[in-house]
Amino acid sequence: MKPYSLTIHEAHRLLKDGELSPEELTRSVLERIDEVEERIKAFVTIDREGALKAAREAGERLKRDEGVTPLTGIPISIKDIFCTKGMETTCSSRILRGFVPPYDATVVKRLKEAGAVIVGKNNMDEFAMGSSTENSAFQITRNPWDLERVPGGSSGGSAAAVAIGESLASIGTDTGGSIRQPAALCGVVGLKPTYGRVSRYGMIAFASSLDQAGPITRDVEDAAILLGIIAGHDPLDSTSIDEPVPDYLEGIGRGVKGLKIGIPKEYFIEGMDKEVEEAVREAAKTLEKEGAVVEEVSLPHTEYAVATYYLVATAEASSNLARYDGVKYGYRVEDPENLLDMYCRTRDKGFGAEVKRRIMLGTYALSAGYYEAYYGKACQVRTLIKRDFEEAFGKVDIILTPTSPTPAFKVGEKIDDPLKMYLSDVFTIPCNLAGLPGLALPCGFTRGGLPIGMQFIGRALDEATILRAAYHYQSVTGWHLLKPSL
Ligand code: GLN
Repeated sequence: MKPYSLTIHEAHRLLKDGELSPEELTRSVLERIDEVEERIKAFVTIDREGALKAAREAGERLKRDEGVTPLTGIPISIKDIFCTKGMETTCSSRILRGFVPPYDATVVKRLKEAGAVIVGKNNMDEFAMGSSTENSAFQITRNPWDLERVPGGSSGGSAAAVAIGESLASIGTDTGGSIRQPAALCGVVGLKPTYGRVSRYGMIAFASSLDQAGPITRDVEDAAILLGIIAGHDPLDSTSIDEPVPDYLEGIGRGVKGLKIGIPKEYFIEGMDKEVEEAVREAAKTLEKEGAVVEEVSLPHTEYAVATYYLVATAEASSNLARYDGVKYGYRVEDPENLLDMYCRTRDKGFGAEVKRRIMLGTYALSAGYYEAYYGKACQVRTLIKRDFEEAFGKVDIILTPTSPTPAFKVGEKIDDPLKMYLSDVFTIPCNLAGLPGLALPCGFTRGGLPIGMQFIGRALDEATILRAAYHYQSVTGWHLLKPSL
């Protein structure tokens, strides 16, 4: 087995026993990048020297056995939405080209303190708006299972990199599904934690009341390990929750006996791929066989989730993106006639079509005369969606759903039809609106060989239970062990 294809916990064992050095592991990952990146295009920045330097430092740390964590010497990648001190951070947008942050996002700081080796920054949909990475201003990432297909998005670079061995794990962000949907389409594990569980400081804002960072990994243990490191209170983020972080690995192996799992009847909709539906129903049966109690639940306001999300998210985005004016960061047009011309042309040239569409939609939803009818109404429906979950969690411990209604689609298939693209988030969006944790994991393959993902949704701050159910499912099925070959 090549070092680049190890999980974090496997690599950690070898590093601790001295059977592998962080430098060897990092070189293996960098060689893998050399081998496949031209075809996959998962990175916008690769930091070979920085990675090797961090690997050598991690090696010293391991030798002295000082402050060693499960991440010490582990090569990971980071979605290009997180500020990285001294390393360009673009959100895959022209408007941030050349922006080199003077500080690290809290997530990045915690990873570095734990001794992780950061190999580079992953491609994404511009400002995390999209479900395919086709909205990146720089390149389209390809799905390692089929190069003609998208890896999902917006954290598509992250999911593709992890699936093909260009990093052992990545950190993505999820506003309406951007960790879980690409994880599903690439056959890896993706965890969106409870809103507020992980600090948003230094994570470039899309929709602040929905955005959350989380791990994309090759298995469930690795997700538990990474979450344990990035989670926790941060005084620099006023929405971060001040609750102790549990040991997510403790009790992960306790099985699913007696666990109550709800299947929402509204999540098996018309237009959904038959093979996806079959795989998720089959997974429910497997869990039942393992001792879980599976029952139907109802989330009656699900049908309004996509519309609600695209009002709340665009409203917040229009406000958050007002700061890109050519003055403070990155790109500015040359030879402006005056200040207004500079603002207008910088934003016109700097933003891509989808970002502009969102800014316009959001500005409209917030404008005087329409605010109550659109943004105000969306906030009310959001509360109803949240209540649906509260009701369901009165009866069950976790909820099982498909992650995405279809497996990976072809590059170009949906890009000219925004509504079609928006619909790929139908199962992931409710979780964000309600602030709940959701975990996507592989649950089978289509006859054409594309991975299928399912999703566990948990109670607020109860990541431990969805991790436990996912871990058990993974151990009895082994879908996560299948790897793409190029
Ligand atoms: N695909 C959704 C969107 O385009 C979700 C994106 C995300 O979670 N960042 O808004």
